Amino acid sequence: MNGALPLIDLHRHLEGSIRTSTVLEIARRTGHPLASLADPRAALVADEPLPGLLPYLPKVDVAESAQTTEQDWARSAQSPRESR
Ligand SMILES: [Zn+2]
Repeated sequence: MNGALPLIDLHRHLEGSIRTSTVLEIARRTGHPLASLADPRAALVADEPLPGLLPYLPKVDVAESAQTTEQDWARSAQSPRESR
């Protein structure tokens, strides 16, 4: 393999693909601590590549923890993040 190959999505996890605005909408409604952070977007989004998988996991975990009901998950599934 060489470095010229394009990156592709093999699969996506819903909890890592929810729009930031949707996670925050749910967090505000449920009183999740994410809603009271000074910069909640920074808790959810990696603007630059991170070194390996582990630094991404807290961002996915916080998005998942804001989902409290089946309706939250249904709402989130309706607003997947757009591909870059
Ligand atoms: Zn996976």
